[in-house]
Amino acid sequence: MTAEINFEDFKPRVDAIEEAFQQKWERFRYFVLEPDRPEFAEGLNSFGPEGISLLEKAKSALTQAKEFQTEMLGRKSRLSALRKEIRNVAAADRGVAGQAMTRLELQMSQPLEIVETHLNHFIGTILTRQEALDVTLPGWRPRRGHLHPITLVRERIEDIFVSLGYAIEDGREIETDFYNFTALNIPDNHPARASQDTFYTSDGFALRSQTSTVQIHAMQRRGAPLRMIAPGRVFRRDTPDPTHNPMFFQVEGLCVDRGITMAHLKGTVAEFLRRMFGAQTVTRFRPSYFPFTEPSAEFDFSCFKCGGSGCRICKNSGWIELGGSGMVHPNVLRGAGVDPEEFSGFAFGLGIDRMVALMYGLDDIRLLFENDVRFLRQFD
Ligand SMILES: [Zn+2]
Repeated sequence: MTAEINFEDFKPRVDAIEEAFQQKWERFRYFVLEPDRPEFAEGLNSFGPEGISLLEKAKSALTQAKEFQTEMLGRKSRLSALRKEIRNVAAADRGVAGQAMTRLELQMSQPLEIVETHLNHFIGTILTRQEALDVTLPGWRPRRGHLHPITLVRERIEDIFVSLGYAIEDGREIETDFYNFTALNIPDNHPARASQDTFYTSDGFALRSQTSTVQIHAMQRRGAPLRMIAPGRVFRRDTPDPTHNPMFFQVEGLCVDRGITMAHLKGTVAEFLRRMFGAQTVTRFRPSYFPFTEPSAEFDFSCFKCGGSGCRICKNSGWIELGGSGMVHPNVLRGAGVDPEEFSGFAFGLGIDRMVALMYGLDDIRLLFENDVRFLRQFD
């Protein structure tokens, strides 16, 4: 039988628990206030380092409040241990000891419950605000990217020719000597064949120096009559400068049928340029020489900027030189398996990059190939 204790012995143990509670309670006392009070958020500051969010601090405070509650009021708490000793208190003091215990328990449990309720409420408010979909806010979206200016102009050119009944042909960029030169009526001793003008692979293939190669493939594959354009990349051994690059883009056109004349060529090129640069555009042809056409002509169009009166873009001439053209040489038709006695045709070619540089007023064609986003972004 344990010796009986009286209230005077019991009371200090109750007070000790209360004192321990008060020490730790200091950090939590702000959370008895309503969560929208500024002191509430200030109180959270001791629950995490500077820089972490109020949400994280509130979660930490809630966890610690629950631990505090378990420590003070749980099954293994000093309070719980003390409660078991009430039976050892002298019968006369047992009532007052019990009251002191109950008072202490409520003194600790009630504010802690309020603290947990308020912290839960505070956390819930932040989460709701974060998850709420506010359709009036500008969204976060990744940059979508956009087409390269060369692609934009190429597609415009393609659209115009497709509407004129032309097919779009694609071709290989590495070619045999035959397709790059011989089939185009370029003689063996022609300077273009020299390795200072054309890139060759170590086993003797050429990087195509013009898209005309595609014409030969198309005629061999599809025969005549034929209407096609071939946009694509070509390669020449140029030293890069503001108007030259060793890799650039061309578009080549070919029309082969019975009774095709120079008038069809002029009409087609003129119509293309009118659709590209406006109905007022005037086209002119100047006699020229290319091995694969006979007769051959270079074509210019009236400056789209000044309309012919002279400006910086047309170097005050009123005209812009654009490309080469002519009637397909009978040797080229014959080499591709088309009978020049029955069929005739015209061909033309122009540089897409040059056209882009003109249309967008670029001083340096190399800008188009440097992949500098600060430059390319302007075409979005
Ligand atoms: Zn001009």
